Amino acid sequence: MLSAPPLRPRVRLITSSVLLLACSSVTRSSVTQTTPPVSATTAAPAASPALDLAAIRAQYRAFDRLRAVLGWYTRTQGEPPLSALLYLGREPLFSAASLAVIDSALRRPDLAAEEALGLRFLRLALASERVSLQLAPFDDEVNAASIAAKVRVAFDSQPMAFLHAPLRLATERDAGRRAQLYEAISRVTLETLNPILVRKEAAAQAAARTAGYADYVAMSEELRGTRIDSVLAEGIEYVKATDSIYRVTADRVAREEVGVGLDRLRVSDWSRLFASPSVIEAFRKEMQLPALTMFLSGIGLDMKTLTGGEVKIDDSLHPLKVRRAAVFWVDPPADVRLVVKPQDGMQDMGTLFHEAGHAVHMARVTITPWEAAMLGQSNAPTEAFGEFFRTTFEDPRFLARFKAFLVARGQPALSNAQLAAVMRRSTLQQMNYIRRYAFAKLLYELRLHGRSASQDGTAMALLPAPDRVRGDDDASLRELYGQALSVAYGFTLNEAESARYRSDVDDTFYSADYSRAFALAAMMHDAIRRKFGVDWYGNPEVGKFLTEQLFARGTSLSAEDVAERLGFPRRMDFALAARRARAVLAAADSLERSR
Ligand SMILES: [Zn+2]
Repeated sequence: MLSAPPLRPRVRLITSSVLLLACSSVTRSSVTQTTPPVSATTAAPAASPALDLAAIRAQYRAFDRLRAVLGWYTRTQGEPPLSALLYLGREPLFSAASLAVIDSALRRPDLAAEEALGLRFLRLALASERVSLQLAPFDDEVNAASIAAKVRVAFDSQPMAFLHAPLRLATERDAGRRAQLYEAISRVTLETLNPILVRKEAAAQAAARTAGYADYVAMSEELRGTRIDSVLAEGIEYVKATDSIYRVTADRVAREEVGVGLDRLRVSDWSRLFASPSVIEAFRKEMQLPALTMFLSGIGLDMKTLTGGEVKIDDSLHPLKVRRAAVFWVDPPADVRLVVKPQDGMQDMGTLFHEAGHAVHMARVTITPWEAAMLGQSNAPTEAFGEFFRTTFEDPRFLARFKAFLVARGQPALSNAQLAAVMRRSTLQQMNYIRRYAFAKLLYELRLHGRSASQDGTAMALLPAPDRVRGDDDASLRELYGQALSVAYGFTLNEAESARYRSDVDDTFYSADYSRAFALAAMMHDAIRRKFGVDWYGNPEVGKFLTEQLFARGTSLSAEDVAERLGFPRRMDFALAARRARAVLAAADSLERSR
């Protein structure tokens, strides 16, 4: 995950690998805090001398870079989060007076287009910081509680750190133990974290209204430049379009990987399922970075930066390093950092490819000013670049190259059945992501943030028992979460599994950026295949096209701009994503039948 410039979601320490996306990267903004932000909650413009525009731009750029470097240390070395210290003395930067200075600059008639774009992004970023700061104490409290919490299970004599428990779900072979562990994690969530998150939610809704928005949803829509209910409408159609193929595929993969059908599957089995023990030989950790290099060089890309350096890759095994891959845009294009802690498995390979999308993107940025390059409104485009790279594992043409690559390195050759299994798992994961994000999470998060049940009638019709979720009380919220996620997963969530209804939340609807990114990534595959042929994986012109048309523009392009540059109408085509899933599954079946 790349954090969005507006209302930057902080790195959540409760990173359950059960539910995490392939992506958990942080860039310029997401830094956890362990001490309250210093007087940041009440930036009093009257007491602060107003900064001029040049000072605002310079200070915010410096702030952003320092935060990224510190975030990188926290992620790789276990350095305690220090962002609260960064806010010290910066009240004038985040004041209403600063916003007024930017507004005034935006009214200048002679403003160049890219300069205006940059200033607009800067204004959104500062406006979101003003609200984020008020929520920082709650995030700190959640993070501190997560770090301190222990999980106890009968099969282990020692308590386990709450933060390490989700990883254990992927490696634990025994389904009963996984379920037990999941219940213990849920207990901590319910008893320790949720009470804090209830208070955070109330503060978030109040902060949005104080900032002048109609409500939290309206604020998020302005910050991300998208209508949440429109994305949800696409999600509803996607669920309907994929329901039968999703269920058949999930059932088959579940039987192959964890030995039970979809009806008996649990959320606690999910990360084990995508670690995919049946094909793990092809995804050994030593092969992951070389495979990425093979993919990139085939399309004329590499990990070099425009300034002649390299993306800094940290693949050390520091004990305090966070396991999941991440990318930090410290000072692009010169300073972009990719952090990995390689583990065997298909999920880890996919995550590395996804993060490489973020890294290659910003190592090739040329647009100025800095704000246009770095502070864009929506992160859907860069998330789509990551997903575009990751979902190459759905394509038999790429897998043929991957197989040859492994054989050349002395690895056993993958059979056609194994290649088909890889395609099936990759597509299943993609379908699950879209169903989870564009349908279940958007439906739920709209209600969590204060919208009423009557506004999502079509979505409610997909729920098994809509009458039980219509209230605005806590129990109805949890019920809605459970039912919506049950539709997305294809099996009924139990009590323990619905306990994450307050922590499985993407601040200011980052979930909408992800949702649109999934559709956009499928569109990218379609466009690149049409433009460069089905076996585009060996054509360096692909990298040239991506660089010139997309990556060089940094964060300045909207998702609609990207669609247009690929030759599509200016909308996210979720139906195309559903057709792609169907086509991949058909191709997997035919590959499996061939010898
Ligand atoms: Zn990402």
